[in-house]
Amino acid sequence: MPDGGLQLDVTVMGAGLAGMAASIHLAREGFHVICAGPDVRNRQAVGESLDWSAPDLLHALGLSMEKLIADGIATYKRHVTLKLADGFTQHYVPSEWLGQSPFNVELRTLHVDRSLLNEAIYQIALNHDVQFLHERVANIDRDGARVVAVHMADGTRISSPWFIDASGAGASLLPKTFNLPFDEYGPHKTAMWSYFTVSDAIEGTTLYTQERKPPYMEWIWEIPIHPDVISVGYVATGDSVKTMRQQGLSVEEIFRAQLSRNPRFAALLESCEPAPPHVTSFRCRVHSKIAGPNWLVMGEAASMVDPMTSNGVTAALRHAVEGASLIVQSRKLRQIPALKRFLYSVRVASLARFFNSGIEKVLYDWPIRNRIGIGNAGDVYTVPAWSMNAIYARLRPRGVISTMLFGCALSFLLAIASILHVCCRQEDAVFEAQA
Ligand SMILES: Cc1cc2nc3c(=O)[nH]c(=O)nc-3n(C[C@H](O)[C@H](O)[C@H](O)COP(=O)(O)OP(=O)(O)OC[C@H]3O[C@@H](n4cnc5c(N)ncnc54)[C@H](O)[C@@H]3O)c2cc1C
Repeated sequence: MPDGGLQLDVTVMGAGLAGMAASIHLAREGFHVICAGPDVRNRQAVGESLDWSAPDLLHALGLSMEKLIADGIATYKRHVTLKLADGFTQHYVPSEWLGQSPFNVELRTLHVDRSLLNEAIYQIALNHDVQFLHERVANIDRDGARVVAVHMADGTRISSPWFIDASGAGASLLPKTFNLPFDEYGPHKTAMWSYFTVSDAIEGTTLYTQERKPPYMEWIWEIPIHPDVISVGYVATGDSVKTMRQQGLSVEEIFRAQLSRNPRFAALLESCEPAPPHVTSFRCRVHSKIAGPNWLVMGEAASMVDPMTSNGVTAALRHAVEGASLIVQSRKLRQIPALKRFLYSVRVASLARFFNSGIEKVLYDWPIRNRIGIGNAGDVYTVPAWSMNAIYARLRPRGVISTMLFGCALSFLLAIASILHVCCRQEDAVFEAQA
């Protein structure tokens, strides 16, 4: 190590999905990359039900669908099913037209065992000579709008011409350093999850909700990460979990109580004992201006999308591809041109706003869901969300016109959802007044 600490071409803060993927893309282009952050293999990762755009992004890392299935890292996901306690069931399947020319979208996607996937990506990064430093970034040195160096918790100083922040939603290192503006969506939420052995896993993700018309939706996911293992998680508002905790219930008791309300999980709880649940709290947030002259923010550090959208993994891998390519293109200039920074920020933020605002207005909140029914609300969310994601993957907007046109299309769809939300809320107030 030189006296001044480590010197490389790119410093990536955070060794999660976005950080490792960006490191691989850059290492392939000949950059010397250090990926600095706690060892992802010691972490209980979540993010197991993938959007339809994720398989191509994994393929670009060297992990084809076939390989992931053959290696036991993934199972096929062909649809999403919504189930209510009263027996109501609705399937959401990607439209056939997405599979046809010019989109040619693969109509299957994947569920993944995130521990195995993280390990596989870590090995690919090692094979590309990505250097790992399993320490936390403690401090960041900046000179105006540029990042100069980072200091790790063990005292190591790392300097490089380029920096990537992929430190996740909890840390968001560069947004905090540069005090970047952000918007938040929905209330604080808590998720708790564990794993069950089953004999009847299906090739689809199932979402369960207990009531047809709750004021704010709580839900349970069932994701088959192996043919005989399902991940089961309960998501509720932080306030709702806090109330149950104040009544003296432990996280494990809350998890069991919520699952027991559903006959499928009540039976599973009787037949097998799951490990104590993991728990995490989050609030969906979207930062703006996430690129500087020699730095970029990626993955959840840039924008956290709600788990119900199944879009977090796609977003992390997509940011990694786009961000790495910006650095490659700007290599000789030694800084990312202002327009390219702006367009990257617009693309990342507009997609994340679209997913977060859409799912809050159409499914979590009551007005649209109660007015048109939860099954139809599911269509109102999934058809535009899945289509826009597939169109984005196919068209790959990068220039001014394509980025702006795509942003306008997303804003237009969001405006429709907002108008629908307001109208349904007002209509409901009129009905209540008449009653
Ligand atoms: C409950 C829940 C369910 C989800 N379900 C899905 C799903 O079904 N499908 C889906 O696509 N997505 C899902 N997601 C989202 C998905 O898990 C994430 O979007 C994705 O893993 C984000 O990857 P990332 O690399 O951006 O962040 P992370 O995976 O959070 O990685 C960030 C890394 O940075 C490290 N770090 C933190 N602080 C520092 C520091 N100071 N210095 C250095 N490193 C640091 C962390 O240790 C971590 O390894 C879910 C999320 C939640 C919360």
